[in-house]
Formats: sequence, C-alpha cells, structure tokens
Amino acid sequence: MATKQNADFEYERSRLLQRIASEAATMPPELRDAVMAPGVLDAMAQVARENFVAPGDVVSAYRNAPLPIGFNQTISQPLVVALMTGLLAPRKSDRILEIGTGSGYQAAVLSRLVAKVFSVEIVSELAERARGVLAAAGVANVHIKVGDGHAGWPEEAPFDGIIVTAAADRVPEALLGQLAPAGRMVLPLGRDRQMLAVVSREADGGHRVRELLSVRFVPFVEPGSGSQ
Ligand code: SAH
Repeated sequence: MATKQNADFEYERSRLLQRIASEAATMPPELRDAVMAPGVLDAMAQVARENFVAPGDVVSAYRNAPLPIGFNQTISQPLVVALMTGLLAPRKSDRILEIGTGSGYQAAVLSRLVAKVFSVEIVSELAERARGVLAAAGVANVHIKVGDGHAGWPEEAPFDGIIVTAAADRVPEALLGQLAPAGRMVLPLGRDRQMLAVVSREADGGHRVRELLSVRFVPFVEPGSGSQ
C-alpha cells in the first residue's frame, strides 16, 4: 500500500516536472534557461513535495500551485521554485542564504545543488516543522534559525547566493552586505505589484537590480507587526 502510494507520487512528480518544462519553453529565454538549467529539475525530481505540504493537501502536492502551510504562509509554486533556483545559478561549492524557510521545500531542492543552505524563518513553529521534515528526508546540509530575515545571518556571511521567498518593498540593506562579491540575490520586490528580481553586485561596490517577471508572494513579515 505504502509502496503503491510512493509510486503514485513519483509518477505525479515526473508529470509535474514535464509540465514545468513545457511551460518553460514558452517563457522568455533567460527565464526558460533558468528553469532548464542543469540540475534544477533533477533536484526537484529528488524531493518529495508531498512531505512538505499540509497533511490535508497531500493529494494536491503535485499541482503546479502554491499551497497553504499555516500561519498565513504558503509553500511556493513549483514552477517558481524551479525558476528562482535556476536564477541563483547554484554551484556545488556554494553557501546559500534563504530568507523564509516556510515548509523547507525550497531549501531541500537547493540542498541537492549546493554545499550548504542557511535558512532564516520568522515563525518558530514553521522552522521547527521544516527541521523535522528535512531531517526525516535525510537532508543534513540545511541549517535553519528562527529570526527576522531582514538581518540575514551575519555570523555565516558572506553567501554565494541569497534567495528571499517573501516580498519586500526594497532590497534589504543587510542582505546586500552579506552577498559575496560575485554573488547574486533572487527576490520578489514590491507589495501590491511584485516583480521577481535578480540583484548582482558590481565591481564598484554598487549593485544592479533586474526585474524579470510579475509574481505573487506573501509579504515579508515585519517583526512586531502581530501578523506572525
Ligand atoms: N521557501 C518556502 C516558502 C516560504 S513562504 C517554501 O519553500 O515553503 C515565505 C516564508 O517567509 C514564510 O514561511 C514566512 O513566515 C517567512 N517570512 C516572512 N517574513 C519573514 C521575515 N521577516 N523573516 C524571516 N522569514 C520571514
């Protein structure tokens, strides 16, 4: 019974990844190339999304849609996970900072592509749950801390890449300072109207922001706002 269920999930997962690849083929070249970047869909093929969604949503785990995970938060849409992962251009030796652990799914996908993932989550219950799911999945290179992502994780900086999975009005200043010189940051920018953006550091110490695609993410939680 359990085996059959696993086989069903694997089938659904490969179908979803095929749908993502077809959709990527219709996107502008830079976005298509990010989704199809070597390793990205392979990494997603190895992560059981059904373990990261709420128990009642297991049947929907392979819809290409965000799903609620409690605390007014969501696990991101698989296509967006593929896109953001590819835009980070992860390399095996990279140390990546993620802001917004949520379910831990994005971190699990990244964990297959890089050396270490450091992930900051403001809702302690979500951090705790993600730790449990990742441990059960045998993922040992994701480190999660509870805190406000605006501050990043200074003790572990610099990072080769930073991925932010909640939307902010502007690029958080502390995060820019924690990005390695050749590093890039991928994040949704804006409140009502959000754009997925890639931020890169320039040789002169400044940074460049490129907005690529309209997206919809939950907003950054401001600590003390009471909405956590
Ligand atoms: N990457 C997640 C999706 C997360 S949704 C996944 O794969 O499931 C956004 C997450 O950002 C939520 O869990 C939310 O609690 C968290 N978040 C929002 N504001 C934050 C802040 N200021 N600091 C850290 N995490 C924050």
